[in-house]
Amino acid sequence: MIHYALVCENAHKFEAWFSNAEAYDEQHERGIVTCPICTSREVHKALMAPSVSRANSDKVSLSIGHPQHTQLREAMRALRDKVTSEADYVGDKFAEEARKIHFKDVEARGIYGEATRDEVASLIEDGVDFMPLPNLPEEHN
Ligand SMILES: [Zn+2]
Repeated sequence: MIHYALVCENAHKFEAWFSNAEAYDEQHERGIVTCPICTSREVHKALMAPSVSRANSDKVSLSIGHPQHTQLREAMRALRDKVTSEADYVGDKFAEEARKIHFKDVEARGIYGEATRDEVASLIEDGVDFMPLPNLPEEHN
């Protein structure tokens, strides 16, 4: 079972349980998911993850000057290389594939790819255990 916080076009917030993420998508597409307050079918998942702030949506976290800067950067590069050489690249289907793996709809395997901030917030809400991959500037030496 999966629990979703939903919101309708009239900003009514409500919660619902679905057997899995696909069940929600299917019922949502068929217009069965309705707001219990105004019966609107224009409902979507409410995003409540506190760690993803709209105000910071165009910013990235950076670091410089740590005494072990070079070693840390090498470690991050090694981490990235390990993941990208051993896991399957799924492109912008990361959120979809990660959810399938999390809810055991498919066999567990390593994947990497890209997701939008909304998708990241939604994955956090669903309790999917993923991690960010470091984006590193190219070496200039
Ligand atoms: Zn409503």
